[in-house]
Amino acid sequence: MRGVSGEEQAVLERAAAAPMLDQVQAWAAVNSGSRNLAGLGQMAAIYADAFAALPGEIRLLEPSPVEAMEPSGALKPLAHGRNLHLRVRPEAPAQLLFTGHMDTVYGADHPFQRVSWREEGVLGGPGVADMKGGIAVLLAALEAIETSGGGQGFGYEVVINSDEEVGSPGSAALIAEAARGKKAALTYEPAALPDGTLAGARPGSGNFSIRIEGRSAHAGRNPEEGRNAVVAAADLTLRLARSRTPSLSVNPARIEGGGPNNVVPDHAILRINMRPQTVDEQRRAQQVLEDAVSLVAAEHEVGITMHGGFARPPKPLDARASCSHSCADAVPISARRSDGAPPAASATATTSPPAACPLWTRWASAAAPSIRRKNI
Ligand SMILES: [Zn+2]
Repeated sequence: MRGVSGEEQAVLERAAAAPMLDQVQAWAAVNSGSRNLAGLGQMAAIYADAFAALPGEIRLLEPSPVEAMEPSGALKPLAHGRNLHLRVRPEAPAQLLFTGHMDTVYGADHPFQRVSWREEGVLGGPGVADMKGGIAVLLAALEAIETSGGGQGFGYEVVINSDEEVGSPGSAALIAEAARGKKAALTYEPAALPDGTLAGARPGSGNFSIRIEGRSAHAGRNPEEGRNAVVAAADLTLRLARSRTPSLSVNPARIEGGGPNNVVPDHAILRINMRPQTVDEQRRAQQVLEDAVSLVAAEHEVGITMHGGFARPPKPLDARASCSHSCADAVPISARRSDGAPPAASATATTSPPAACPLWTRWASAAAPSIRRKNI
């Protein structure tokens, strides 16, 4: 069993003393719904200012171009916010990646906008847990490490993207590039359990817009000449829904199309989300989609085009990830509110990292996202 050294304890205390509560309250007051480009711009500027406390170069990068399918079936550019990128000591032999997202699921027109205390020690507000709180923890940990001089042995990149809640279409390439060659990557999503237990595995996610082109006809005069796009979309929906398994969630979210009652509809769009838990399931899902599309196209004599893909691959807890996960879990869980009050509850995890874990180092312990979200 290996505990936390005095030096590590000092870094943890420094991190816990950072003004995380004030930051989260101020940050959550800025609406940064994934589609609120003005709010995201404001958030990006705030984070760029806050992360300027760290060494290295901060840039706000334009997103990759993204197209979305309109209800008419036309593809139109869809704007996303800029993404924050920080690179520190790229020459260091050991490199880490830290990620977070600045967007939330609450748009500017959503009723949930205000930050308030739900009960003693529990703050509620848009993005407080997911994940402005996580970003405050990340910043506090990195500042504490840098101030202690403990960061000199490693370099890192921080990516805070603006479109995670909508599948990261404008930032996936940036994240993939930043992940290249890293020893470990930590993201600062809410803990899996209220006691601070970290989330490990998570499924991938793919969003698809499937356009179905049939043939219009009069419902009374010549219906046999029509090819009903809405019926084909419904058939496709049911086939895809049946491909659901415990390790693949399938959510047909919307069917658009159709028109007057006396016309066989020649146009429909099916929007669907699929979440595979493993890379094999993702492959199977892709195959299921392609098979169902060809089958429905042939059976209903309609044209089908598919737009979208799996922007986020599954992240299973494999041997390497499991190793870094248990390392992070070995960090004491404690935090202090910025008004100096003690946390409502605290616990110290005493498990040691596996002796053979190559990722366990002093800096990894202090940089781990372990501070209870409940207390900030
Ligand atoms: Zn999140």
